[in-house]
Amino acid sequence: MEPSVLSSYPGRIPALDLTAETQRLKPQLMAAIEEVLDRGTFIMGPNVKAFEQEAADYLGVRYAVSMNSGTDALVIALLASGIGPGDEVITSPFTFFATAEAVSQVGAVPVFVDVEPDSFNLNPQRVEEAITPRTKAILPVHLFGQPADMNRLTDLAEEHGLRLIEDAAQAFGARWQGRMAGSFGDAGCFSFFPSKNLGAFGDGGLLVTDQEELAERAAMLRTHGSKKKYMNESLGYNSRLDELQAAILRIKLPYLDEWNQARREAAGLYRELLQDVEGVLLPSVREEAEHVYHQFTLRVQGGKRDELKARLDEAGIGSMIYYPLPVHQLPVYRHLQLHLPVAEQLSQEVLSIPIWPHMEEAVQAYVAGQVQHALQI
Ligand SMILES: *Cc1c(COP(=O)(O)O)cnc(C)c1O
Repeated sequence: MEPSVLSSYPGRIPALDLTAETQRLKPQLMAAIEEVLDRGTFIMGPNVKAFEQEAADYLGVRYAVSMNSGTDALVIALLASGIGPGDEVITSPFTFFATAEAVSQVGAVPVFVDVEPDSFNLNPQRVEEAITPRTKAILPVHLFGQPADMNRLTDLAEEHGLRLIEDAAQAFGARWQGRMAGSFGDAGCFSFFPSKNLGAFGDGGLLVTDQEELAERAAMLRTHGSKKKYMNESLGYNSRLDELQAAILRIKLPYLDEWNQARREAAGLYRELLQDVEGVLLPSVREEAEHVYHQFTLRVQGGKRDELKARLDEAGIGSMIYYPLPVHQLPVYRHLQLHLPVAEQLSQEVLSIPIWPHMEEAVQAYVAGQVQHALQI
């Protein structure tokens, strides 16, 4: 590794580095944490309430209900939408397992349909073909920070009387035709896992909706099925966002647009640096979409992905394969014996290279140079 270029990363460039972001905000974060400690309210305190309001305002929705993870937000969104045993939910096979896991957890049936090769998101044509009398909902994922085709998916949901629940875990702040990802459906689900674009210092999640009844049911399910303490009306969960995490997220939220813009700029530089590299397809962006580049994901053609990953590893560059197996081929769903060629091919070709807000240009140039070098051999 060239020491001059990589003085900030002795030895290794990680796939994600948020330490600078954390350091910059440390005084504010520590003050907010201290305030929570001094108040002594750790569950459902004023920061949780304020964060829910601030997140709802930012996302342009009426209600935001915080949760202890994105996975729980998905489970509770499905339950609060009345989805349960026997219901079919059409979703993506090219996502993190939690999307489908939530569907199966509520007893419903995930129906995997193939994705678009360029956007990596649900193919609306395949969704339409998969609708049956048992279909209850469509569950698109805004993968890697780019919204799925919300025009066609909202039309399909309306035409067929289906619920639309968005997995926006990777897309906080992404927009589709100027409107926030997560705000189109009956419910939108977000994750504050530390590596997400808006990350807590632990687990956290959020469910958003414009429907009062759905918001109320979700809030009830989050707290053991009770609206009033010790007056449990149904089974539920313990899925509250911690007051400490809410306080941290309130400090970070005002910076999110700037961070997402910085990610777009980093993506723009990668595009310049990598445009002429043969055998690499750069991520494509729909003109309706404002991508937030949770990942910058290449498609490496000619069966060279694993070799490229190994060479980057040797050059001290962390890269990640999201996802090495499409969800329908994971052991838990393998018995379905589905064949979804686009998702399967993508899982062989994708490689996410390091990206984060305000990444140094010299680091990006080194990464891009190593990608080019590795593929030339
Ligand atoms: C991170 C993620 C989730 C789950 O969120 P957690 O907060 O980790 O439970 C769900 N779906 C997608 C697409 C994700 O990336």
